[in-house]
Formats: sequence, C-alpha cells, structure tokens
Amino acid sequence: FIDTSGVVKSFETKGGPVKALDDVSISVKPGETLGIVGESGSGKSTFAKCLVGLEEANAGKIAVAGTEITALSPARRRAERRLMQVVFQDPSAALNPRHTIGRTITDVLRANGHGRATARDAALALLDDVRLNRQFFDRFPHELSGGQRQRVCIARALAADPKVLIADEALSALDVSVQRQMLALFDDLKTRRNLTILFITHDLRVAAEICDDLVVMQSGRVVASGAPAEILEGEMHPYVRELMDAIP
Ligand code: ATP
Ligand code: MG
Repeated sequence: FIDTSGVVKSFETKGGPVKALDDVSISVKPGETLGIVGESGSGKSTFAKCLVGLEEANAGKIAVAGTEITALSPARRRAERRLMQVVFQDPSAALNPRHTIGRTITDVLRANGHGRATARDAALALLDDVRLNRQFFDRFPHELSGGQRQRVCIARALAADPKVLIADEALSALDVSVQRQMLALFDDLKTRRNLTILFITHDLRVAAEICDDLVVMQSGRVVASGAPAEILEGEMHPYVRELMDAIP
C-alpha cells in the first residue's frame, strides 16, 4: 500500500550535513501493521515526516495506493497525502489549548466537506470510536489526562478519513496500562476502518508483539526487515540484539 525506494533526506546544520535517511526502501501491505523500530536518532520520525509531507525527501520515490506521490505537483501531492495521518508523541503540544475538543475535531471534518450539523454528529461518533464520551466535546485540552488527549489526537487524525495511520511514539508517554488500552483501540480501529498502521517505536519488544512486519533502522538505514519471528529468531543482527538488550 505504501512503497518507498531509495528515500534520502539530509539536513543542513551548522556542523555540516546530517544524513537522516540514507536509501530507505520499504513496502507496507494494505491492512497490515508495520513497525518501524530503531534507537533515538535513527531516522524514524524523519521518515514519517517525509511520508506525510512535513519534510520533503531529497531523493527517492514514495508511492501510496499505487500513486507515486513524489512524481506529482505539490498540490496533488498534498491531496494524496491526506490518505496518511500521523499522531506524534506529545499530545499536549499537538492540541490548540484555546480550542475545545469538539472544535478541534469538527474543524478537520469541515475542511473535509462536512456541513456544520453533520460535523457535530460525526465528531461525537469519532469521540465514541476512541472511547471518550460526549462530555469531552466541550472540554479544553488542559481538562484532559495525557491518555485522553492522545485519544483526541487519534480522533482528529481519523476525522481526515485516512487509509494510513502513523503513530510516531504515540504511546510512549503513556503508562503501560493506558498503552495496552490504546493498542487494543488501534487493533479495533484497524479492523473497523480497514486502516493500515505504521507503528513507530524504539521498543522492539512491543513492536514485535503487535506488528505484522518490522523494519529496523539504524543511522538512517534499514538494517533488517521482515516478520518479527524472522528478525528475532536464531542469529540476530547485532544491532537487533542491542535493541533487545536495551529493553528493561
Ligand atoms: P527518536 O527516537 O529520538 O524520536 P528518530 O529515529 O525519530 O529518533 P529523527 O528525528 O528522524 O530520529 O532524526 C534522525 C536524525 O536527523 C538525527 O540525527 C537528528 O538529529 C537529525 N534531524 C532531524 N530533524 C532535523 C532537522 N530539522 N535539522 C537537522 N537535523 C535533524
Ligand atoms: Mg522520533
């Protein structure tokens, strides 16, 4: 469903260029959960940003649902990229503190063609999807817990009716029990909405548990990919071994 080949992204910094992505080729099947795993600085977020257009790759091809978006005009590229929505780690930074939860979600729905009345109903349905009751509609972000805010971020992402949901360390700030709830929620949404999920984390064990396939990144390169069992059984790649050993 997503195919990338040879994606390269360098950043110019005062200390010289930083190659954040170096020839990244991956393939995500429709409806699968693909885990992207790697240590801090390995390029996971940069890859997510290049997919959704928060950064543009310097080279390489990105195709989504059979359309090579890197070959399109910027306007058409933007339209195609709406199929992919990303949820980042810190839910407090991601929400406008002056907008109610209801407005946060209805704004996206209205930008996607809903009228005022149907947007309200659709927003309530989305809150229900992420297991938040309707009393949250009129609340502000600071009146929610971290896990509740993260659910709002997911509801807002779903409001754009994506085919792909990218969770970039979206659960890392939450305690383990909330993480479990959120994972169950992802699983549920995945089946009901037929979503393809990119699950980005530094926790190889969690990724191996919930993902169909894994891509392991180190210094902007893919060092291993395949089903969790293939990656974790037998003679592990030394870096994979390191990642496993790093988990407490
Ligand atoms: P983490 O697990 O800590 O979130 P990551 O795998 O998401 O790490 P990236 O954020 O993709 O890592 O960063 C990859 C590399 O690119 C790092 O060396 C980082 O310092 C560098 N980098 C990322 N964004 C920029 C930027 N805007 N300007 C310069 N360098 C950047
Ligand atoms: Mg990151």
